Amino acid sequence: MPAITHRKDTRPVRVGDVVIGGTDEVIIQSMTTTKTHDVEATVAEIHRLEDAGCQIVRVACPDERAANALPEIKKQINIPLVVDIHFDYRLALKAIEGGADKIRINPGNIGKRERVEAVVNAAKEKGIPIRIGVNAGSLERHLLEKYGYPTAEAMVESALEHIKILEDLDFYDIVVSLKASDVNLAIEAYEEAAKQIQYPLHLGITESGTFFAGSVKSAAGLGVILNKGIGSTLRISLSADPVQEVKVAKELLKSFGLAANAATLVSCPTCGRIEIDLISIANEVEEYIQKIHAPIKVSVLGCAVNGPGEAKEADIGIAGARGEGLLFRHGKTVRKVPEETMVEELKKEIDILAEEHYRK
Ligand code: SF4
Repeated sequence: MPAITHRKDTRPVRVGDVVIGGTDEVIIQSMTTTKTHDVEATVAEIHRLEDAGCQIVRVACPDERAANALPEIKKQINIPLVVDIHFDYRLALKAIEGGADKIRINPGNIGKRERVEAVVNAAKEKGIPIRIGVNAGSLERHLLEKYGYPTAEAMVESALEHIKILEDLDFYDIVVSLKASDVNLAIEAYEEAAKQIQYPLHLGITESGTFFAGSVKSAAGLGVILNKGIGSTLRISLSADPVQEVKVAKELLKSFGLAANAATLVSCPTCGRIEIDLISIANEVEEYIQKIHAPIKVSVLGCAVNGPGEAKEADIGIAGARGEGLLFRHGKTVRKVPEETMVEELKKEIDILAEEHYRK
């Protein structure tokens, strides 16, 4: 059991029809890579992210053109829209007016108090939250002078300063992130934040790298944090198609039993006993179960030597046997299927189990 139950104990914050915090659920986010002013491309990308299981999407709002596109984007998508703004309070106001379900802006960076008030009041009026995004790479100068370099304490202090600005204006719908590219620093910062901050935490290892390296790095860092009961939402940041970010996030949450309605695949590493083309079958099945929203465990094994019995916990699975496959449920063989139709048969069985789950 995790030592800290921060995730559940945080203040629930509503973002559109999704709630971050106050439960054990961890919400998956991603960010578009298109130019936000290009409505068609942005909406198309958001739809791909939605299909992959993204629950909240963020778009950058670097200029007026982007802000002007927000109402149209909002109209064409089904998941809550977060608008990312740096410094410019006028863009923040436009984003809020344009239908943002949440904005990401650091109140300490907005400038004059009336500007901060204008943004906070507009957010309050629309009932939308603000995410404070602390980044180790862009800490305030006075904190760098105080601590010498970006430390976990400095990052949390930065978050607390931004939080105070909002709380002084009677604003509490806050989500906080403390991203760092250094995995150990990110872990420390989130641990420290969990001790001092009762708002939901948005997890991320920033600039983690390419699909391969970034996935490993993110899973390593965020895995530690999630395991401690910390984090109510997350984004995996990859130099890759953002759909991959969502897939990695889903897989990571599945590993910790934090994705309630997702199917998981168990597949063997293959060895000299292999009887079927397991690697391509495993990939095909993995792709197939992405669309299954039921907690089904599927197993794909290269042979029947240790096969079905080794995957007792699997709801359904196949094991290779000479020229054919054994279809099994909970470790017991149900029937033999020809190799050519093995994968199709497995998919049908997966669908039946999913239907049974949906009907419950
Ligand atoms: Fe090898 Fe069979 Fe085990 Fe796969 S299931 S690793 S093929 S013994």
